[in-house]
Amino acid sequence: DTTIISVGELLVEFVSHRKGCALRELAEFTGPYASGAPAICIDQAARMGARTKIFGGLGADNFGNVLTDRLQASGVDTSAVLRLEDKTTGVAFVSYFDDGTRTFIFHLNDTAADAIAETPFVLPEGALLLHVSGASLGNANLRVAIESIASQVLARGGKISCDPNARAELMRDQAGRDMLFRMMEHSSYLFPSTSDLEFLFPGKSEEQSIDQMRSYGADILALKRGSQGALIISGEDRFEFCGHKVQEVDPTGAGDAFCGTFLAMITQGHSPESAGRYANAAGALAVTRRGPMEGNSDSESIEQLLKLKS
Ligand code: ATP
Repeated sequence: DTTIISVGELLVEFVSHRKGCALRELAEFTGPYASGAPAICIDQAARMGARTKIFGGLGADNFGNVLTDRLQASGVDTSAVLRLEDKTTGVAFVSYFDDGTRTFIFHLNDTAADAIAETPFVLPEGALLLHVSGASLGNANLRVAIESIASQVLARGGKISCDPNARAELMRDQAGRDMLFRMMEHSSYLFPSTSDLEFLFPGKSEEQSIDQMRSYGADILALKRGSQGALIISGEDRFEFCGHKVQEVDPTGAGDAFCGTFLAMITQGHSPESAGRYANAAGALAVTRRGPMEGNSDSESIEQLLKLKS
């Protein structure tokens, strides 16, 4: 059995009730919700029955408990997660606008997450797959931890997968950007979104960007197209999936739910086509619930959605 490992920021998120709230006036928030790209992805992979483990840092506070309780309930091995008395758990506040855009305020500086840079992570026995989210690579401490674990995983004959999550802040940071390209060049699975392609290869067409990314040598490239669905490219094969018609309540986490589902299916021996079909449905379900991982799903609810469509 392959263990899927994710490493990086764990945080709680508070979501504004009011659309268009600029996060500077009096507002009501719901939360704390468990969040952080590595956490959302690994939670979904565990719900899909994969063997999973996460490495990150949390304060020894109730916000930290929100994460460990949630991940453990989904079946994620959290035994390597650090709990630090003298640090806090990362926090984010998010507000949505009518056009689907979001605005965030992050409190991530000097949180417990940074401590993983100085703490060794013991790799689990057996086959390994490390999933890296570009969202983690803007932080120098997380880069140190991820770089070290990635080289250990590769030395053990394991695989890497990468969701570029290429935000403007990350692209401006040369060290983060360089590391993102290094990770992509070592990845067996790549999960860009259409906006990642625009950030990474400005001025190039979608096909040109896909060709460029494929030249890094991944076995499978999955292009996430939001409400438009997804495209899976595996060798000479291409599988297109239209977006499911769903009511979008909160788009955060759809990409991570997509990756978690795809990796769980692939490591459990399913074909890229089948993994893509389930991941496309998991991404659609993810947007139907408020909270970054509240829309995560198991194979039963995914199959229900797929049945409705056929
Ligand atoms: P994020 O960074 O917000 O987690 P992303 O940009 O990485 O997301 P998206 O393309 O938004 O990823 O979503 C991932 C997948 O989820 C899509 O490829 C699609 O399969 C599904 N999905 C996302 N939004 C919708 C939607 N509104 N309707 C149906 N399916 C959706």
